[in-house]
Amino acid sequence: MWEAEVAIVGAGAAGLSLTHRLARPAPGARRVTTVLLDAPPGPLRPPERTWCFWEKGSGHYDAALTASWRRLRVHSPDGRPMDRSISPLAYKMIRSADFERLVAREVAESPDVRRLEAVVESVDPVAEGAVIRARDERGRPVTVRARWVFDSRPLGSLPAARTTLLQHFHGWFVRTERPVFDPGAVEFMDFRVPQPPRGLAFGYVLPTGRREALVEYTRFSGSVLSLPAYEEALRHYTADLLRLGDFEVVSTETGVIPMTDARFARRSAPSVFRIGAAGGATRPATGYAFSAVQRQTTAIARALHARRTPEPPPAHSARSRAMDAVLLRALDSGRVDGAEFFTRLFSRVPTVRLLRFLDGRTRLGEDLGLGLRTPVLPMLHSAAELLWLPRTPFPHP
Ligand SMILES: Cc1cc2nc3c(=O)[nH]c(=O)nc-3n(C[C@H](O)[C@H](O)[C@H](O)COP(=O)(O)OP(=O)(O)OC[C@H]3O[C@@H](n4cnc5c(N)ncnc54)[C@H](O)[C@@H]3O)c2cc1C
Repeated sequence: MWEAEVAIVGAGAAGLSLTHRLARPAPGARRVTTVLLDAPPGPLRPPERTWCFWEKGSGHYDAALTASWRRLRVHSPDGRPMDRSISPLAYKMIRSADFERLVAREVAESPDVRRLEAVVESVDPVAEGAVIRARDERGRPVTVRARWVFDSRPLGSLPAARTTLLQHFHGWFVRTERPVFDPGAVEFMDFRVPQPPRGLAFGYVLPTGRREALVEYTRFSGSVLSLPAYEEALRHYTADLLRLGDFEVVSTETGVIPMTDARFARRSAPSVFRIGAAGGATRPATGYAFSAVQRQTTAIARALHARRTPEPPPAHSARSRAMDAVLLRALDSGRVDGAEFFTRLFSRVPTVRLLRFLDGRTRLGEDLGLGLRTPVLPMLHSAAELLWLPRTPFPHP
């Protein structure tokens, strides 16, 4: 049996971020013994991913970034480009494999943190803690007892919600023959792609050089597409809209992120907390979770170092969640045209303020001002509908 003060289940964005904070405590901070458990390579391990987020100035993970940008571009459905500086913020891209390597180095140097590869089967509360039962890749039992457990395993099914949309995407890492990309700007939302009858679709381009980029096709809707349908959309986007010319696809990335106004429990037993997407870190209106994960794991580490109960704070404020619930309803009901909605926001609200809003860092007055720049009547209608709409289960994607 392994014993530690903290056990972290899952080494994805949330598990690695918390491990990073415990493996490298601030000078003078109390040390916290930690076991990080992750499933061995296989079906439970998600494929390599790219996480993007924005922050001001330098950050904890700068050494592992693939790229960062100071400009975001949005194209309206009729092709109007809006190119905006986001200074003093930077939009940053980190690949999951690089993040894993960064944290693995820190774990190797830390006397307090151990990493185990095992499939966790149960987490049971016991007096003053919890016991984790798992199996390593050869099927041998592994048991860990910890005072606090932070569990980031994906939920088997989503909690009931009034609205659940899926953000689903497929992307190509491309290398082009000609230098066609502007490495200074991210194509954040390119609405020139054909719009579906409900929800919305956009292109997304993360250029890492003049000839290299991740090019994605993304949709917000109720169900995913087939692989040939994503590929067809990407062919159209890269050939007819971006006019990339000849290129090779070096690798691909696919994802499905639920965008939901469900309520996620953050505590499943007195000593067991859910973190990451499983604990509600995904921002309902955008699908971004990485920044919220950083806020949550920073707060948890602070509480642990101060010997306080390390309950993760809500990932998003009640006001942010309420505003997102209205938007999800307006999009799902078809009352607002998604592409027009986001184009209008980007053309009328300073981009830095919009990004601060998405991180929950705006004041009430700023949020009200932002609300007034949306189509007010359909949004009010959607808000009223939320009052009587029941929360219903959604089949897991
Ligand atoms: C393709 C993709 C791209 C995304 N891009 C962005 C982005 O750019 N920006 C952003 O903010 N958000 C992004 N997101 C959303 C969100 O940030 C990610 O989903 C993020 O990975 C969530 O982190 P997590 O730690 O909660 O879950 P995960 O990263 O999925 O980690 C869960 C971990 O649990 C482990 N696990 C599962 N079952 C078991 C078990 N039984 N025993 C032990 N371990 C187990 C897995 O191995 C995994 O390591 C993206 C999501 C996807 C799918």
